[in-house]
This record gives sequence, structure tokens and C-alpha cells, in this order.
Amino acid sequence: MKKIKVLLLAGLLLLLSACGQQKAATVLLPADMPAWEEAEPEDAETSEKDDVKYAALTFDDGPSQYTESLLNGLKARGINATFFLIGEQIQGREDLVRRMRDEGHQIGNHSYDHPMLNKVNSADAWQNLNRCDTVLREVLGEGSYWIRPPYGLITETEMKQAPVPLIYWSVDTLDWKLRNTKKMLAHILNDTQDGSIILMHDCYETSVEAALKGADVLKEQGYELVTLEELFAIKGIEPQNGALYRSVK
Ligand SMILES: [Zn+2]
Repeated sequence: MKKIKVLLLAGLLLLLSACGQQKAATVLLPADMPAWEEAEPEDAETSEKDDVKYAALTFDDGPSQYTESLLNGLKARGINATFFLIGEQIQGREDLVRRMRDEGHQIGNHSYDHPMLNKVNSADAWQNLNRCDTVLREVLGEGSYWIRPPYGLITETEMKQAPVPLIYWSVDTLDWKLRNTKKMLAHILNDTQDGSIILMHDCYETSVEAALKGADVLKEQGYELVTLEELFAIKGIEPQNGALYRSVK
């Protein structure tokens, strides 16, 4: 039942975000200005700041066999993303995880083996999350590894106990179900707004393709894709431990 509630809520959010108005990005570049008109440096800066929109690409369920090609694509575009990793999948892919960190991506905790955390008791839920946190510390060192609960499911009590922020999403690409680049792309382009958190999974080849194509089109629309930590900093919002975020605005 809880899953249905969460899905309904996600659907509602999707609907709401789809109804939101898209702001057209019009950045007036110095090159477009008449030669005799000197740009006021302060105005130009403010105008550019106002027109840039920000969103965060987030990837769950990795690392996988497709993660490397995703990292290559993100690197070629100069994009930073956030990866919520499954602890048991890190073994044998430690170098790939260190590469993520070294290339500026944010890394988070998606549990050790992807259980429904709301179906197990609190001690087991935390043991599972802590086990993934331990693996991340072993591979990457000390840090704050934010949590995205598998399936977006976690009890309110556990949520409030979390020693880090919890991250949901506002754009659901349904990539795990669709496995169709064009349809995923439509979700990304129709639903993304300033401050959006886009949910994808880097364990499907089609998701990697859609993420990179989506990134290219979003860039043309004036978006800058950043990590979650960067998105909070840009929006001037201090992320709180034990709080759940669906978007950052
Ligand atoms: Zn997952």
C-alpha cells in the first residue's frame, strides 16, 4: 500500500511539474549586442544568472557494466551528476567508483542490497544502509554519503533518524520500465524545471543514451546540470539531515 501511495504522490508531483510554466532562456551575449552599445558588466552578469536554470541528474542502482560509458559521456560534456550506489555492486568496481569521485560526481548510498526498507524492522534497515555507508568509506574515505532509499520507500521514523539528507526526485523518467530512449527523453524534456532532481538508473544501456541526449538538449535550453550538493549551494538552501528532498528550489 505504501508503495502505491508513494507512486501516487510521485505521479501527482509529475503532473504538477508538467503543468508548471517553462521559462524561456534568453541570454544576451556580448556578441549579439550592437557594436556601439557597451554592456554594463553588472547587468550582464545578473541577466545571465537569472536566465540559467539548474537541475541534477541522479543515477541509481550502479555501478554496473554501463557506468563507464556514462562517465565517459558526462566527462566529454563537462557535466557533474550524482550516483546512488548499491553497496554489494561496488566489489570489483572500486576503481570506477573512485573515478566518479575524482571527476567531480557526488556519490550516495542506495543501501547494500536494495531491500524494501519499510518492510524490514528498523534495526535491519539501518544495518543495510550502514553496510553500504561502510563500503563507501572504505573505497572513498570519510564523507557524507546522502541516502536515496530503494524504491523511494522508508518509514517516517527511519527518515527522521537519518544522519544525512534523503533524496527523492521530481522527474521520473521511468527508464527501468520504458527501456526506450525516445520515451525517456520525452519525460526529461517535458518535466524538467529549474531545481529538478531527475531520476535515472545507470544499469540500462538505454538510460545512458537518454541521459546524455537529454543533457545535450537541456543545455541548449539553458540548463546547467550539477550535483545535488552543488544544486543546494546554488539555491542557497542548507540541506538538513533527516529531511527528504524531491527538488531544490
Ligand atoms: Zn534502486
